[in-house]
Amino acid sequence: MNILILGAGQLARMMSLAGAPLNLNVVAYDVGSKKIMHPLTGEVYTTTLEQAIIDADAITAEFEHIPDDVLTLCCNSNKFYPGKAAIKTGGDRALEKALLDKTDVACAPYQLITEKAHLEQAVKSLGKPLVIKTCQAGYDGKGQWRLKSDLEIDKIWSEMADFIASGTEQAPHTIIAEKMIPFDREVSIIGARDIHGNVAIYPLTENEHTDGVLTFSIAGKNNHSVQTQATTAFTKLANELNYVGVLAIEFFDVQGTLLVNEIAPRVHNSGHWTQQGCHCSQFENHMRAVAGLPLGNTELKQITAMINVLGQPSIPADVLKFADVTSHWYGKAPKPGRKMGHINVSADSMNDLADKVGELTEYLPEEQYPGLLKAAANLILH
Ligand code: ATP
Ligand code: MG
Repeated sequence: MNILILGAGQLARMMSLAGAPLNLNVVAYDVGSKKIMHPLTGEVYTTTLEQAIIDADAITAEFEHIPDDVLTLCCNSNKFYPGKAAIKTGGDRALEKALLDKTDVACAPYQLITEKAHLEQAVKSLGKPLVIKTCQAGYDGKGQWRLKSDLEIDKIWSEMADFIASGTEQAPHTIIAEKMIPFDREVSIIGARDIHGNVAIYPLTENEHTDGVLTFSIAGKNNHSVQTQATTAFTKLANELNYVGVLAIEFFDVQGTLLVNEIAPRVHNSGHWTQQGCHCSQFENHMRAVAGLPLGNTELKQITAMINVLGQPSIPADVLKFADVTSHWYGKAPKPGRKMGHINVSADSMNDLADKVGELTEYLPEEQYPGLLKAAANLILH
């Protein structure tokens, strides 16, 4: 079976690696260069996008910011999963909030902003501090402002006005203000839905962000009560979107109550631990779902943590001396802060994991792996 993936980054690469044993043959479309290429080797093919769509049995995406013309072409083929509504919703925070309201899934109180009066109103009705985000752009905490005092309104508005003005009639730019949530921790749920509507959901992941970027995830803690909330939210949202594939939902955990932060209609960085932590990884389950195959086992196989590798030219070979430590490299040119790869660490118990992550900090220094020392300390206290 042939699968076309829109996007040629690490997520397409890992989907292709997971698809190969299932006899799924993957090509990727690089939206920047507009070329069809091999998702692992980067070899560029002469095939056009139109031809690749014809050749594909199923089409999917590794990201939600897909140009409209490309998305329309793919959707017109009736082979595109998870579907246009899901991609559009994941790429626009205003649509995301509308979906959450419609399905009665709780999120941070918010207000949409298209003019300065709305911002002033948001400060009054939501209170300070506010987190202000662009609705249509932004990732890894980019495209955001924090408003803590009335004195910042003018400056932030002038920056926001530039973003709003850069939109077009066909693709308007909007802003959303959210109440800053005093969360205890951030968690996410990753799950898959197949073409018949069956759902398979992974254990909840706890996530550490450093400067707005995910640095550390862990799965296998006892999350029983919040797992149920997350599973309910997942099922409601995936059913409403008639979703096919892997869907990720990020939440704030506020004293045991989950509020949705955002949804990602794709495989997600906070699900990379499933490669070692589960029998069937998020990448394999996404490929299974879009190929019309039965979903795989999402139960926890082993407690697993994931460490993101940001901006480093390689992963220190010494970490591979440890049992149950695996390296996942993306093959990208290094840039400061860029996601270059990740390290998965599995263990038989939380204590064992705490020991292993602690030992790894000797090889993964804090300047290069920000947040790891804190994550290691939290594990000891778990
Ligand atoms: P990514 O694509 O990496 O998930 P993003 O750019 O889409 O990030 P968000 O997930 O919305 O942005 O926000 C990034 C981080 O900022 C969150 O993980 C959280 O730590 C913090 N944050 C966002 N919104 C709020 C909020 N309303 N209250 C408190 N913290 C917030
Ligand atoms: Mg996020």
